[in-house]
Amino acid sequence: MSEPDLFESENSALAHARAVFCDVDAGEEAYRHTLGQLISYYERLMRETRRLIRRSDREELEMNRLNHRLQELAQELEYRATHDTLTGALNRGAVIDRATAALARGSLALIVLDIDHFKRLNDTFGHPVGDAVICGVTACLKNAVGTEGAIGRVGGEEFAALLPGLTLDEATSLAERMREAIAGYRFPAPVDREVTASFGVSWTAEGRTFEYAYGRADEALYQAKRDGRNRVTRAGA
Ligand code: GH3
Ligand code: MG
Ligand code: MG
Repeated sequence: MSEPDLFESENSALAHARAVFCDVDAGEEAYRHTLGQLISYYERLMRETRRLIRRSDREELEMNRLNHRLQELAQELEYRATHDTLTGALNRGAVIDRATAALARGSLALIVLDIDHFKRLNDTFGHPVGDAVICGVTACLKNAVGTEGAIGRVGGEEFAALLPGLTLDEATSLAERMREAIAGYRFPAPVDREVTASFGVSWTAEGRTFEYAYGRADEALYQAKRDGRNRVTRAGA
C-alpha cells in the first residue's frame, strides 16, 4: 500500500493553479479564485511549519535533557561499581583492576593496612561506631595520599594505597605519615582510645601481577602485626 500524500489538498490546489496559469483564456474571476486558494493553502502551510518547528524544538530540548540524564546515570553506575558505599574509597574489584593496569604500564608501590584490634572496638562500642572509625581512618588515608595515589577498601577494616611510580622509600615514608595521622586522630565519643593500624609496603616492577604485589605487602603487614602492631614494615627484596 502506498503512503498517504500529506500534501494532497496543496498538490491539487497547485495543479489547479498551474492549469489556470497555462489557460490563456482564463478570466479575472478564475485568477482571483485560484490566487485566493493558493493564499489560504500557503498560510496553512506556514502555520503548520511553525507548529512543527516548535514541536521539534521542544523534542530536541527533551532529548538533550534525557541524554544528559543518561550520562549522569552512566557515571553514577560506574561510580557505584567501583567504590565502596560506606567510605567512598575504591572497592576491592577496582583496586585489583587499577593495580593490574598500573603494573602493565610501570612499577607499583603498594601499601596495605589493617586497623589494630578492631574487633575490640566493635565489641565495646557497637558496629555503627566501628563503621564511623572505618570512615575516619579512610579520611586520614585520603588526606595523606593526596594526589599521589588512590585509596581502596579491600576488606572490612583493611585498606590499600596504590602508588604507581613511587619508590619503596617514598611509599614507606607515606605509610609512616598515614600511621601517624591515624594514631593522632581524635575519634569522636564514645571512642575513648587511640586507634592504630599496621602497615605493609611492597614495590613491584612492571609486568608482575597484582597477586604478587599484594601478597608481599600483606606478608609485611602480618610481620608488622607480629612485631607489636602500630608500625610500618616493608617487604624484602
Ligand atoms: P588485628 O589487630 O589482628 O587486625 O585484630 P582485629 O580485631 O582488627 O582483627 P579481626 O580480623 O579479628 O577483626 C576484624 C573485625 O572487623 C571483625 C569484623 O566483625 C569487623 N568488621 C568487618 N567489616 C566490618 C564493617 O564493615 N564494619 C564494622 N563495624 N566492622 C566490620
Ligand atoms: Mg583484618
Ligand atoms: Mg584488624
